[in-house]
Amino acid sequence: MVETHKVESINELNKKLPELEHRNFRDDDFWKSIPAWSQVTREEFGDHLWQQKNSIRKIDQVKKVLGDLATPELMADMEDGQRKTPMNIRITPYIFSLIDWKNAWDDPLRKQFLPLGSQFLPEHPQHMSDSLSEDEDSPVSMLTHRYPDKVLFLPTTLCPVYCSYCTRSRIIGGSTESVDKSSYGANQKKWDEVFDYLRKSPLVEDVVISGGDSFMLTAAQLKYIGESLLKIPHIRRIRYATKGIAIFPMKITSDNAWFEALKDVHKYGLSLGKQVVVHTHFSCPKEITHWSQLAMEKLFRAGIIVRNQAVLQHGVNNDVSDMVLLTRQVGYLNIQPYYVYMHDMVPGCEHFRTTLREGIELEKAVRGTTAGFHTPTFVCDLPGGGGKRHVASYEYYDEENGISVWKAPYVKPGEVFTYVDPIHRLSPEAQKRWQDPETAKKMIADAIAKAKD
Ligand SMILES: *Cc1c(COP(=O)(O)O)cnc(C)c1O
Ligand code: SF4
Repeated sequence: MVETHKVESINELNKKLPELEHRNFRDDDFWKSIPAWSQVTREEFGDHLWQQKNSIRKIDQVKKVLGDLATPELMADMEDGQRKTPMNIRITPYIFSLIDWKNAWDDPLRKQFLPLGSQFLPEHPQHMSDSLSEDEDSPVSMLTHRYPDKVLFLPTTLCPVYCSYCTRSRIIGGSTESVDKSSYGANQKKWDEVFDYLRKSPLVEDVVISGGDSFMLTAAQLKYIGESLLKIPHIRRIRYATKGIAIFPMKITSDNAWFEALKDVHKYGLSLGKQVVVHTHFSCPKEITHWSQLAMEKLFRAGIIVRNQAVLQHGVNNDVSDMVLLTRQVGYLNIQPYYVYMHDMVPGCEHFRTTLREGIELEKAVRGTTAGFHTPTFVCDLPGGGGKRHVASYEYYDEENGISVWKAPYVKPGEVFTYVDPIHRLSPEAQKRWQDPETAKKMIADAIAKAKD
């Protein structure tokens, strides 16, 4: 008698093998665990207008939507967080309902968007609101021109979510209890001044359209910006930056006008022999689901290349298995992992930052786990505007005091830059040394002198 073997479906197989974990994309009705959304259908949940309308903008809404899941301790801690954070609240129902509210304290998504007061740490004395000196290298409003052939264009300061760790917390998302900001929305007249500047800058080939977030541009604005830039003869590449694919994939799958506008700009680019790509921002495996897969299938079939930039964050993705999983997951979705950034030295983020050493160790662990072109480069964007450098390319690293010294020979010849590790991660003696401004100054000067040797 011939034995018949049951052929397992590929999905069943994927679920059983831990090394294939990156192919399992959550597809349950997870939002139904949120009391206010227990009756919301899949169709409603998948509608970008529903997502936008039901985005959480205030602590009161958190409480209302969560009902019994909102414990008084958690709510008090979150309210305290709002007094300390430089960022306002905005969070899509999609991300909100992926948070494990029974264990909110530890949840990597809650940490990114709804900070708890008790988790903040005192600022590092070296922190800076414009850590990357973007304003200093700005020849015209909304534009940073630091590298000869590429520029950073910030057409809006609005985003579909507000990340507690935003590097542009000085301008993004409106004033908070702790920071006054001059945020701005779409302003075509100002954009035209940027295009004028770029027309007169023949070395520029590459434009990053960031912000803020390209998801907040209307279809017409997206198209206007894209086409205006592509028409400039020396511009060869544009990238739309959006965290949207990670935190609001329903916009790709259901906002047809917006998606068509993106496709049109992409096609227009092709007709001119120019690149139009999207850069996105997945931080951790928990925010990747079947909805991400649907959005990416649509983008990939349209021929639009997507790359990922993540920020290294303590308690979110600074763990080897999470970082490897994230890398393999986004690779599987046809997203190229591009950069993992050391956390910038911006205010309100000391609890998120990691040591440079951790960045270097994670880079070692991730390399080799998948295709080389799907392996992110771990970089430190140098405070003071030296640009992005590979994490292991420092000139000198005083690990005891957490001071690394860097050079950026092409971007700022002759200058040195320092990056500092979070103080709470140093030895008690080193922590004490940082308490005294004179000692701290000397430690930095010593490290710089060593780097110059
Ligand atoms: C990051 C950045 C760019 C783009 O740099 P890539 O390394 O090419 O991604 C351009 N301009 C500024 C000011 C930047 O910070
Ligand atoms: S989406 Fe980007 S720009 Fe907007 S708040 Fe988050 S990190 Fe900042």
